[in-house]
Amino acid sequence: MTLSYQQAIGQLLDAGRRLDARGWVAATGGNLSYRLDDGSVAITVSGRHKGDLVADDIMRVDMNGASLDGKAPSAETLLHTGLYRARPEVNAILHSHPRASVLYSLMVPSAVVVTLTGYEFVKAFPGVRTHEAVVALPIYNNTQDMPALQRKVDSWFENNPQAPAVYLVRGHGLTVGGATVDAARYTTEAVEELMAYELERSRWAR
Ligand SMILES: [Zn+2]
Repeated sequence: MTLSYQQAIGQLLDAGRRLDARGWVAATGGNLSYRLDDGSVAITVSGRHKGDLVADDIMRVDMNGASLDGKAPSAETLLHTGLYRARPEVNAILHSHPRASVLYSLMVPSAVVVTLTGYEFVKAFPGVRTHEAVVALPIYNNTQDMPALQRKVDSWFENNPQAPAVYLVRGHGLTVGGATVDAARYTTEAVEELMAYELERSRWAR
């Protein structure tokens, strides 16, 4: 079921408050979006605190990230439109800066892809039915060149059609797509929990 623009705004405001309650969108970090029926995307404007969003802080962009209503989109808008193009089943995307994900991404500087298995929480990824499944999450180096980053992300999803709609940007944050806003939020919570496990484990392994 797809949402009207007004419904999408309501759900994005709610998601912003919930992510803020967990401390995952500190300062003006993060951005949140929803794919609308007409192929445009409802997304948070640049520079607003995600815990304090009001309806006017949501704007519409086209699939290339261009503003449709004169408001200023975030530079990270391309992280959303690229994932929507790559994954037709994704209707909502949450990009946040949760602490364990950011720290873990910095602790594995040589790895391009982390694999997760043996955790009950891997079942939080769409289509995963057992803790024995192996889930691969790519980690990209951070950059302010969003089109360049988007090209790398696009090629990952093209070459890994089974991979979940999730990736990390090193020292920056986490981007998660889901069929609904809630689904994207649940997967965000699961990934952050898994990253916290991995961080803790890496301390014992020393
Ligand atoms: Zn960010």
